[in-house]
Amino acid sequence: MDVALRPAFIIYQRLRSDMNQPVNHRSISFVDLKGQFEPVREQVRQDFDRVLDTMHLFLGPNVEAFEKDYARYCGTRHCLGVGTGTDALLLALLACGIGAGDEVITPSHTFIATWEAIALAGAQAVLTEVEPDTLLMSVQGLEAKITPRTKAIMPVHLYGQMVDMNPILELAKRHNLKVIEDASQAHGATYKGRRVGSLGDLGCFSFYYSKNLGACGEAGGVVTSSDELAERIRAVRNHGGLTKYKHDYLGTNSRLDEMQAVILKHKLPLLDGWNQRRRELAALYAQGLKNSGVTLPGEHGLGDHVYHLYVIQCDRRDDLLAHLSAHKVGAGIHYPIPIHQQKAYLDRGGQILSLPVTEAAVQRILSLPMHPCLSDDDVAYVCDLIHQFYGTAQ
Ligand SMILES: *Cc1c(COP(=O)(O)O)cnc(C)c1O
Repeated sequence: MDVALRPAFIIYQRLRSDMNQPVNHRSISFVDLKGQFEPVREQVRQDFDRVLDTMHLFLGPNVEAFEKDYARYCGTRHCLGVGTGTDALLLALLACGIGAGDEVITPSHTFIATWEAIALAGAQAVLTEVEPDTLLMSVQGLEAKITPRTKAIMPVHLYGQMVDMNPILELAKRHNLKVIEDASQAHGATYKGRRVGSLGDLGCFSFYYSKNLGACGEAGGVVTSSDELAERIRAVRNHGGLTKYKHDYLGTNSRLDEMQAVILKHKLPLLDGWNQRRRELAALYAQGLKNSGVTLPGEHGLGDHVYHLYVIQCDRRDDLLAHLSAHKVGAGIHYPIPIHQQKAYLDRGGQILSLPVTEAAVQRILSLPMHPCLSDDDVAYVCDLIHQFYGTAQ
């Protein structure tokens, strides 16, 4: 078990090796893997031992327990544990029978996996624009993208904030389309009192270790309240069948394993507290960055943002990123090249598009450190560096 955890510790030590140095010489990491493991370490050790004693490694009691807990958390009837977030999206598409000749509408400004899943299913992604402030999928112009081949809309709850879902749900209903939520960055977010993942036909999650709810390797999940879709996911994650050597659908091998489920099961009760801390930190950033000239992340106010990423928009972005890196502050760009400009997309016959809001935004976005183990001082330090860079005063 220690061996299984060692990679995470090594990464942690590298990230936080100078944690105890004086304020001006400290480093601030982009994520904190160990900090979010420490509170569950003992429970996890015990359960890991039990898994290794029984060697019940796949689709056993821990997966079942986590699936039950996570479905209840999301307010859905079912949760199916799968191998990765990318697989969660792919399996959702397969379960809906979406494939060659079909179109799926999704934003161009997202992590590549959203598009990959659609392409791997054999369908064509129809890429849309985002709102300039929230950088979330825009409903404007969405209806014009619907054709007789459109089978689904895949909104992405980017950075931890849910897309304005009601107009999308209405459109989908009117045109008889499935709605598959890419909720990989928004565990626990809400929209008008409803929990992320529960609004569409299917909600897809990644539990990659740096997400708001992360395992210690690769993991994903699909939630749904449809018994029929749940049965299909159950089959397609397991080679398209529920009985050994009997395969009713084209599926794949993508099952959540017991070790990942142990971690997720014990971390889930901490998720709301962690998300609350992320929101507090976002408020501190907003306060600290006043008068700095940067544009703060847009909040539409329709529910709880869970700040998977804290993304500002700013002038001289690359220079500011270099300035922060020189001061050992972990920052990043999510994402520098939109899908419609990716070689993989264009090589597969993707349409050449002009998406001016997306194209302008990717030049200006910058993700600042954001994880629940950051201190108030850490945020103040990052804000100071940004003021220093622009020559502004707090
Ligand atoms: C992380 C992520 C995924 C894919 O998850 P993996 O578990 O890494 O496969 C999909 N979509 C979005 C928006 C993500 O951030």
